[in-house]
Amino acid sequence: MRAQKNYQKMLEATIAGLKEQNRVPTLLLHSCCAPCSSYCLEYLSQYFHITVDYYNPNIYPEEEYHMRVQEQQRLIRELPAKYPIAFREGAYDKERFYEMARGMEEEKEGGERCFRCYELRLREAAETAKSLGMDYFTTTLSISPLKNAEKLNEIGDALAEEYGVAYLNSDFKKKNGYKRSVELSEQYGMYRQYYCGCVFSKRERDAQIAAKAAAQGI
Ligand code: SF4
Repeated sequence: MRAQKNYQKMLEATIAGLKEQNRVPTLLLHSCCAPCSSYCLEYLSQYFHITVDYYNPNIYPEEEYHMRVQEQQRLIRELPAKYPIAFREGAYDKERFYEMARGMEEEKEGGERCFRCYELRLREAAETAKSLGMDYFTTTLSISPLKNAEKLNEIGDALAEEYGVAYLNSDFKKKNGYKRSVELSEQYGMYRQYYCGCVFSKRERDAQIAAKAAAQGI
């Protein structure tokens, strides 16, 4: 049986190496939303010059997309950071997401559609990191207990090889990362969405809420 890698330990080893070299590299941090990015930014901005990359063509509906962008920008403005954090917004090319998801609309969250969705967004991050000449790229996605950190890191490593930009291995839910993101969301009064992002995850979550309410006779 294949031993599971500890991606948090790998991140700690990378940071220890950077400290030893007295080096503060650049990092393109793909972010899905402000709440998920909060802990990642608090943690990583001590060691990296970060550019937050908001590329999420999966988000539905459009108003939700714009609200998440605004919350992301507000958090960056308000969060104290040792090194200033920059922001860039990618294209909201929804058609690219629907094209990718075709035939997998009924998949449950956490299945193949999600793995392709990780890949879609990480590929854009790798391309952007390369074009901006950044040292590393990674994503906030692993902070969610619903996201598969192993898959994210495998995809990140494969893209690192393809694009020649290092993937910062990580599993942000570890060391109470998820808990800290919930605390920071409350502290900054952040809008915290109730579904992952795409129309399919919204439908799935709405159905769960309706089933729960029906079971409780509400
Ligand atoms: S549930 Fe989330 S990760 Fe999965 S396809 Fe939808 S937006 Fe992407």
